[in-house]
Amino acid sequence: MNLIVQIIMESETGQRSQQVARLERQTTCLENVGLTLAESKQLLAALQAQMVEEQISEYLDRHRRCDQCGEARTHKGAHDLTFQTLFGNLQLKSPRWKHCGCNPHDAKSFSPLAELLTEHVSPERLYLEAKWGSLIAFEPAANLLADTLPITETVNANTVRNHLHHVAQRAEDELGDEHGSFIEGCPRDWAELARPPAPITVGIDGGYVRQWEDKKAHFEVIVGKSIPEEGAACRFGFVQTYDEKPKRRLFEVLKGQGMQSNQLVTFLSDGGEDVREVQQYLSPESEHYLDWFHITMRITVMKQMAKGLPIGTGTVGGTANRPKMEEELQLLKWNVWHGNVSRALERIEELQLDLETADESENRPKLQRALREFETYIKNNRAFIPNFGERYRNQERISTAFVESTVNQVISKRMVKQQQMQWSKKGAHLLVQMRTKVLNNELEGLFRRWYPRFRIATNGGEEHTAAA
Ligand SMILES: [Zn+2]
Repeated sequence: MNLIVQIIMESETGQRSQQVARLERQTTCLENVGLTLAESKQLLAALQAQMVEEQISEYLDRHRRCDQCGEARTHKGAHDLTFQTLFGNLQLKSPRWKHCGCNPHDAKSFSPLAELLTEHVSPERLYLEAKWGSLIAFEPAANLLADTLPITETVNANTVRNHLHHVAQRAEDELGDEHGSFIEGCPRDWAELARPPAPITVGIDGGYVRQWEDKKAHFEVIVGKSIPEEGAACRFGFVQTYDEKPKRRLFEVLKGQGMQSNQLVTFLSDGGEDVREVQQYLSPESEHYLDWFHITMRITVMKQMAKGLPIGTGTVGGTANRPKMEEELQLLKWNVWHGNVSRALERIEELQLDLETADESENRPKLQRALREFETYIKNNRAFIPNFGERYRNQERISTAFVESTVNQVISKRMVKQQQMQWSKKGAHLLVQMRTKVLNNELEGLFRRWYPRFRIATNGGEEHTAAA
């Protein structure tokens, strides 16, 4: 049997039909029931080419006469234009017309299509490339699109990356100016505001990715998650040494979640100066704590080291007391848990003295070093160590373990685990912008802001938006 696919164009002047494809088929086996992928691509490409041709010709017809006096405009040449769509790259002729003499114009001529095709890539194509390019590496993203859409020849890792950068940069350009401080008003004004419902918790952490220019160098990508008491959490990220507006970025995230001027914002982080810098000056009611998750991680590592010490190491009495060292580390953990920093520092000192007299072993210098680092860490962050136990009993957040998974989601697999991958700061920053937007389910909304009719169904009565 032969299947001829025709389209029928309907307009005020009547109907016309045009063949777009002819499918020949003998129904003999499973694999030739229904459309093959190749046929579907051929069909879509032909339909798209025909549809765009019709639309352009109708659009030009509508503008062919001067809208002031009705005089036909004169043709003054044309140039070629490539319009990239999800269903093929279309070569179009873009005409140039003279402006009508009935009223004055700055230029002599204009390109009517330039007003319709304000960009040469269709939003649908930009959207899919930005979305998949942010979720999986550029190469497989390009392969996925080439496999399923009639764009095999024109999509590759570079086009996906370029289009993703284009979209991300456009969003970046919309971000307002950076301020030293985003705190507005004064305590009297804040007191008059209604008490905001509940605190917003923001966890911030960082991960390192390998630099492209210098393969041995790494740079830090800061990733965070803001969790309001009600409503959806929001991920954000940036490359600290590239981003010029980290405070504005975080401010917009918090504002998007309904932060009031007197909002209590609880920041949890690993205590790096650079990370804390971003948190300040965002809300007068913010509080900053060291993240319990990172503290326990450090202590767990030290306990592992203590296990490798020879028997006989440890406080109180000396002999055959290695388990005592582990016990002491556990007690150290509880000191910090209760916010008893002075006792914790004393205990670190005691542990260091014990280690000095311990037998030589591979783990001894390792543990000594870890203890010294932990001591510095606790001293530097003293002001940010609360009574974790009390906060925990009051059901207040103490840990950013929830951010750890965000770090993995946003950067790890893609940018860290693939060790052969190297990144430019700009490339990493832009990718993180797209990736957080996709994970936050914000990309389609962003596109609809730029292209108001994007993915809005118009036929079938009620307008509704397509699912993300
Ligand atoms: Zn005119």
